[in-house]
Amino acid sequence: MASPLPANRFLDCLQDEGLTVVEVGDWREHNRNHVGPWGPVHGVMIHHTVTQGSEYTVDLCRNGYDGLPGPLCHGVITKDGRVHLVGYGRANHAGLGDDDVLRAVIAEKALPPDNEKNTDGNRHFYGFECENLGDGEDPWPEAQLEAIERAAAAVCRQHGWTHRSVIGHLEWQPGKVDPRGFTMAAMRQRIAERLK
Ligand SMILES: [Zn+2]
Repeated sequence: MASPLPANRFLDCLQDEGLTVVEVGDWREHNRNHVGPWGPVHGVMIHHTVTQGSEYTVDLCRNGYDGLPGPLCHGVITKDGRVHLVGYGRANHAGLGDDDVLRAVIAEKALPPDNEKNTDGNRHFYGFECENLGDGEDPWPEAQLEAIERAAAAVCRQHGWTHRSVIGHLEWQPGKVDPRGFTMAAMRQRIAERLK
């Protein structure tokens, strides 16, 4: 049972991992805690935004849109590798996913296929949204991939988790395809190397 990191510790661990962090507005208090629980936390989830343009992407992830109020994640990782903190607490990023996957993440075992939408992911995962069109063609700059690796590793380090606690949205909720353009297996390998 892991309690979410205090906001300042979340910020510090990202900076300590060598990341350039941008604090957006009142990110520490911007959340969806009034509609449901936040924590215990069990892992980190990676997404792509299906957007282009850093400013627009950060705004959207902070504010959300009709039918899906923000924040849509905790950190937005733009193509230049910066991490923009848009919210902290419960955020609308993971949605309903598979309880078998959550059990595997908690046990840090190989993931089963995600074929059920029966578990509240917004409660249990940190979320990083990554600026990309998600069409399989939009490139992922190395600076951005490295920032994903560093951000996920930073949170894992704080909680004593391994790379197996980092999953993609597509491994959580049936029908999701994000992130697209790199594999989570490859990203987890990078995170494992960093955590050695
Ligand atoms: Zn997603």
